[in-house]
Amino acid sequence: MAVVPVKAASAGARGPASRDEDVKVAVLIVIHPGDVRTIARCDDRRVRYRHQMAFAVVMPENVLCEVANKQIDEAGQDTHHYLDVLENVSAAGVDAHISIKPTQLGLDLDKELCFRNLQRLVDRAAEHGNFVWIDMESSRYVDPTLELFRRTRARSSHIGIALQAYLYRTSHDVESLLPLGAAIRLVKGAYLEPPDVAYPKKSDVDENYYKLACRLLDENARQMGTLVHLATHDVRLAARLNAFIDDHGVPNTAYEYAMLYGIQRPLQQRLVASGRRVRVLISYGEDWFAWYMRRLAERPANVGFVLKNLVSR
Ligand SMILES: Cc1cc2nc3c(=O)[nH]c(=O)nc-3n(C[C@H](O)[C@H](O)[C@H](O)COP(=O)(O)OP(=O)(O)OC[C@H]3O[C@@H](n4cnc5c(N)ncnc54)[C@H](O)[C@@H]3O)c2cc1C
Repeated sequence: MAVVPVKAASAGARGPASRDEDVKVAVLIVIHPGDVRTIARCDDRRVRYRHQMAFAVVMPENVLCEVANKQIDEAGQDTHHYLDVLENVSAAGVDAHISIKPTQLGLDLDKELCFRNLQRLVDRAAEHGNFVWIDMESSRYVDPTLELFRRTRARSSHIGIALQAYLYRTSHDVESLLPLGAAIRLVKGAYLEPPDVAYPKKSDVDENYYKLACRLLDENARQMGTLVHLATHDVRLAARLNAFIDDHGVPNTAYEYAMLYGIQRPLQQRLVASGRRVRVLISYGEDWFAWYMRRLAERPANVGFVLKNLVSR
């Protein structure tokens, strides 16, 4: 099984010409790009992965697939691709959500087009009892992405959204989404943001993540129907969150951990062994190498943990 970095792309902050600039770093098992056999591949690998990790008994039947994007004018094609993925997920009987970037569906091109594309996906997901997650891209997309989410959520509950703990605004966004009984994936944030919009210090991001996660998990949020995806590989943070969860009697139905395929496998293993649900995000796509090299160059801190994960496999 090859272990390589895979592009998980979105439109770039500088527009269509630099679409691959605003994407997150991921080190994942290669899943070949954009075809309708993807789900079968995800499923095969999930099974092998489970076996490797001795997850066979307790690992919930969850895989979350993320499709790397192409050009902005291919938003319609990407939408069709996802529609196929949803069909294949259903036919395969796999519990696999899809995770999309709004710019893939045409957010930069035309907001209404993007909304219509997202509707089609969410409607198809609802038909199959499935779920669509919206990734959060760089800060300039936060307002249009929240608007997209609110409009879609008003019609369907089969949609969730990522929020980034590194942004100062996120506690406000959390409070505004809670009354919707929203499904929220909490991440630290993967884009290079200026200090006037995001905490520059990692320790502050970590602390804000903990605070936001506790808010999303508290009784009041649960009563409003909030579902939380704790998308982090941070061992220390996970230990603190587990203590909060256990101390406050948060039921397993209120949250899931979400991690990248192959990253922090011992942590995934421990969480599952302790009865917690873990969802794995599998990225796949084309052009990952050029993108990956640029990400490493931009955030040298990434090199360390990428190498560490590669050698510890
Ligand atoms: C399921 C999922 C969905 C995501 N969706 C979004 C999104 O919509 N928008 C967004 O901005 N960001 C997203 N991210 C990325 C996220 O914002 C972080 O950049 C990333 O998860 C690293 O933060 P961390 O919480 O794992 O903690 P960190 O403190 O950054 O990392 C903790 C440890 O995890 C390991 N690790 C973390 N990431 C990697 C990696 N890529 N490769 C190798 N090792 C790694 C390292 O061992 C590191 O020491 C997502 C992440 C996940 C898991």
